[in-house]
Amino acid sequence: MNIPTSQALFEKANQFIPGGVNSPVRAFKAVGGTPLFIKSAKGPYIFDEDGNRYLELINSWGPMILGHGHELVEKAVSDAVQHSFSFGAPTRREVEMAERIVGMVPSVEKVRMVNSGTEATMSAIRVARGFTGRDKIIKFEGCYHGHADSFLIAAGSGAVTFGTPDSPGVPKGVAQDTLTAPYNNLEAVQLLVDANPGQIAAIIIEPVVGNMGCVLPETGFLEGLRSICDKEGIIYIFDEVMTGFRLSKGGAQERFGVLPDMTTLGKIIGGGMPVGAYGGKEEIMNYVSPAGPVYQAGTLSGNPIAMAAGLAMLDYLDTHQEIYLQLDQSGVKLAQGFRASMEKLGLNYTVNQIGSMYTLFFTDQVVRDFPSAKSSDLGLYGKYFHAMLNRGIYLGASQFESMFLSTALEDSHLEEIMRANEESLKEILAE
Ligand code: PMP
Repeated sequence: MNIPTSQALFEKANQFIPGGVNSPVRAFKAVGGTPLFIKSAKGPYIFDEDGNRYLELINSWGPMILGHGHELVEKAVSDAVQHSFSFGAPTRREVEMAERIVGMVPSVEKVRMVNSGTEATMSAIRVARGFTGRDKIIKFEGCYHGHADSFLIAAGSGAVTFGTPDSPGVPKGVAQDTLTAPYNNLEAVQLLVDANPGQIAAIIIEPVVGNMGCVLPETGFLEGLRSICDKEGIIYIFDEVMTGFRLSKGGAQERFGVLPDMTTLGKIIGGGMPVGAYGGKEEIMNYVSPAGPVYQAGTLSGNPIAMAAGLAMLDYLDTHQEIYLQLDQSGVKLAQGFRASMEKLGLNYTVNQIGSMYTLFFTDQVVRDFPSAKSSDLGLYGKYFHAMLNRGIYLGASQFESMFLSTALEDSHLEEIMRANEESLKEILAE
């Protein structure tokens, strides 16, 4: 791949921006090489500054579920900019947005708009803590909920151990209130709850994980957590920043039929603009200021341009639910194609897929939690990533990411991806 402009830009970026990027995974650190500097994107394609074209399997890490530059979203944004960009006052579209979310996401009765997924999760646990009067939360090893202090916690040496900060700068006092359990392990959660009676405010989970690669909840896991929360008066939070409006119009909760008390949203909800939201049961959300005592605010929250983009996106998804069938079919087709190629090549790597999310893990273990995800051969993933990129396929620059399909991917594109996949596997095996 010829990328002199990206290389020059990255060199300059490193002079002025830490690591040359505004969000770490963009730097290609895990896979090596120079990150592509992107100039534009349309439909299923993304174009770098050197004019190279790639098929998109990242889609801005989720938001572009309809492909890039969808005409309805584009039109909504260009109409909205005619009326100025921000007021810091209530607008009609915020009401329409809230009504639309409540209509689409089964467990949400009231909702507050914010500007990112991180703000959504950070605010949701504050509300859960305020509502319950408890301080501790449980999260799952390998799940990512944004970069607020409470979430940057690794598992330590066991499920019942108190968290230790993953990142310098997270105060120990904050870290010790975050308990971690292995994903898909109900017993470990029960042990934590038993060891901390009356102290757990919330359990927060990615109902389908995207952030250790794509990992699915096993049968009964989400339901089991629901019962533990019910028994112990714990607020059950689904972090649907990735899965919301992606696994179905009502997200993972609709797909699995398990209702949380609170839900966090992001990505698709902004149609590509910086938006997040948190919502839930009315009695809980009424704790949020100014209705209640838990403070949370934002100068740009409910920004009119962002609301226009998000609302156009949600309107489309709500009225075109057949796209979820299309996305499911695309996901299954790719997963089957990958498995068929691997069988042909005598490989036994793991493909996890649900709907339009998937990860090809370079391990032959079943991937059901963080340790099994980490059994992947990361060096091999790096080689695969570059082999795919050289064939014009743009993947997540880490093994621990889910790919996100869009409706802009047609059958011919899927065939191209499967062909590139088989050739890439052959190539890296031959090395
Ligand atoms: N929760 C989940 C499940 C996420 O995947 C992410 C981001 N990838 C976040 C929260 C944080 O969202 P943001 O990057 O918009 O702050």
